[in-house]
Amino acid sequence: MRDGDCTFDALVVGAGPAGVSAALRLQQLGHRVLLVERSAIWPRAQVGEVLTAGVRNIIELLDANDALAAVPHVAHAGSRVLWRSREPDLLQQAGSAIVDRGRFDAALLALAQRRGIEVEQPARLLHLNGAAGDWHVSLLCGESRSRQVRARFILDACGRSAASRVDCAPRLAALWGEVDQSALTELDGTTLVEALEHGWLWAGCLPGRRYRLMLLCDPKAARQAGAASPEARLRAACAASRLLPAAAGLPLLGQVQMCSATPYLAADCWQDGRLKLGDAAFALDPVSSSGVEKAMRFSLQAAVALHTMLGDDGTGSHALARRFFEGRLVEACARHAHWTEAYYGQAWCAGEPFWQARAHYEASADGKLPQELLAALSIERVRLAGYQPPELKPLAAFNPALPLRLHGGAAIVQLPCVVDDRVCLHTALDHPHLERPLAFLENEALFPHLTRLAQPLPLAQLLRQLAAGMPSHKAQRIATWLWQRGLLESVG
Ligand SMILES: Cc1cc2nc3c(=O)[nH]c(=O)nc-3n(C[C@H](O)[C@H](O)[C@H](O)COP(=O)(O)OP(=O)(O)OC[C@H]3O[C@@H](n4cnc5c(N)ncnc54)[C@H](O)[C@@H]3O)c2cc1C
Repeated sequence: MRDGDCTFDALVVGAGPAGVSAALRLQQLGHRVLLVERSAIWPRAQVGEVLTAGVRNIIELLDANDALAAVPHVAHAGSRVLWRSREPDLLQQAGSAIVDRGRFDAALLALAQRRGIEVEQPARLLHLNGAAGDWHVSLLCGESRSRQVRARFILDACGRSAASRVDCAPRLAALWGEVDQSALTELDGTTLVEALEHGWLWAGCLPGRRYRLMLLCDPKAARQAGAASPEARLRAACAASRLLPAAAGLPLLGQVQMCSATPYLAADCWQDGRLKLGDAAFALDPVSSSGVEKAMRFSLQAAVALHTMLGDDGTGSHALARRFFEGRLVEACARHAHWTEAYYGQAWCAGEPFWQARAHYEASADGKLPQELLAALSIERVRLAGYQPPELKPLAAFNPALPLRLHGGAAIVQLPCVVDDRVCLHTALDHPHLERPLAFLENEALFPHLTRLAQPLPLAQLLRQLAAGMPSHKAQRIATWLWQRGLLESVG
C-alpha cells in the first residue's frame, strides 16, 4: 500500500523519552509531527529507571502527569553511597523516582497518540531524498507496507549509536542482572552505590519485586579478565563490595546483560534540516542517573529552535536557532563532564587507574567534531573549571546612601534566549562571579534596566527603574541578589 503525499513539519525517528518529548512539544507549539519507532516489541526493555527530580517539571510542561500516573514505580528512599570513604553516606534525593522504563516510555508514546500525533510503529526509514525544508522520505512500516511522506525537518532520536562521535570520557561498560527482592532480607528501599577499585556498583529495587545489580567498569579491563563471564564478574564485584556481599551468591532472574555506557558527543548534531536529540546527540555517564532528564530537556530546547525556524519570516532565524541549539548541547556535555570528573576524583580509590583516567579527560580533536564546537566545549570547560561561587557580601556592609553601578568586571553580552517559545537575542550580564551569563532573574528580564547602571545610580532610582516592569518586592530581591554577589558596586 502506498499513501499519498503526507507533509509534516517534523519527522521524529525514535520514540524514547527524547523523541516523544520533542514530538509532544512541537505539537503543543502547533506543528504537525510524524513519529516513527522501529521496535515492534512495546513496551520494550530499556535501562535507565532512576528519574531525577527535574523530570517532573518537564512532565508538567508537557502536561503528562495524568498519563504517567499508572506507570509502575517504587518510592526512592534515597541512596546509601560508599564513595568518598569506606563508610557509606545516606543521601536523600527528594523528588526522584524509580520507574518501569519500558512502561514509562510506552505511556508517553500513548499520550502522544491520544494528542493526535501520528505514529508509525514498527517502522523505519528506508530512503531519504530532498533537502532541508522538503525531505522526501520512504518508510517501511511493519513487514512490507511502504509509505512516502514529506517533512520539513528530520529529528533523529534513535538513542545510543556507534555512529561518528567523540568520546567525552574513557570507555565504560555496564553489566547488570536482577535477583528477586525476597532473597534479600535487609532491604530498606534505598539504592546502593559503591566505588570499587576497578569500577562502581549500583543496586536498587525496581518495580515488580526485582532487584537490579549493575557494575560499571572499563570494558578493556573486563576483556582482560579473560574467560571470566559477565555473570562471574558481576558476582565477583558484589563479593568484593561492602554493601552488597550478600547478593554475590543469589540466583539471577535471567542472564547478565551488557551494554556500552561511554559518555559521548555525536558529530553532526546539527545538519541543515536534520537534528539529533537525546542519546543520538550526546550520552552522559550513568553515575548521575540523569540521562533521561537531560535527553528530555534538550528535546524541549531543540523543539523551540525548530519552532523558531518553522516560523521564520525571512529574518534569518536559522543561524540564531543553531547557535542556541549548539550552545545548549555544549553546555549539557561540558557541565556533565565537569561534574563527573570531580565526582570520580573524590572516590576513596581515586588513585587507581580506572578512577584517575576518569578524573581528567580531554575529548580528542580527531576531526569528527567541527572545530567551532570543540572550541566552544573547551571554552565552557575552562569557564566551569575556573568558576568559584562568590562569597556573599553581608547586607550590613551595604550603604544605601552611596550610588550603585555595574561592577567594573561586568560585561554586557548578547545571548540566544527563549522568549515566548522562540529563540531571540537578548542582552545579558556576564561577570566572573556568574557561572554563566544572566539575562533573566526570577523570570524577569534584567535589561534594559541594568543598562543605566553603567553610570552610578542612587539605590532608590535603581529600584524605581526595576519596579517599573515588576512587583517592587521582586525588584528589591533582584537588587540585593546582584549586590551580594558583587555584580553591583557602591561608588563613593
Ligand atoms: C547502563 C546505563 C544506565 C542508565 N541509567 C540511567 C538512569 O538510572 N537514569 C537516567 O535518567 N538515565 C539513565 N541512563 C541513560 C538513559 O537510559 C538514556 O539517556 C535515555 O534512554 C535516552 O533517551 P533517548 O530517547 O535519547 O533514547 P532511547 O531511550 O534509547 O530511545 C531511542 C528509541 O529509538 C528507537 N530507534 C532506534 N533506532 C531506530 C530507527 N532506526 N528507527 C526508528 N526507531 C529507532 C529505539 O527503539 C528506542 O525506542 C542509563 C544509560 C545506561 C547506558
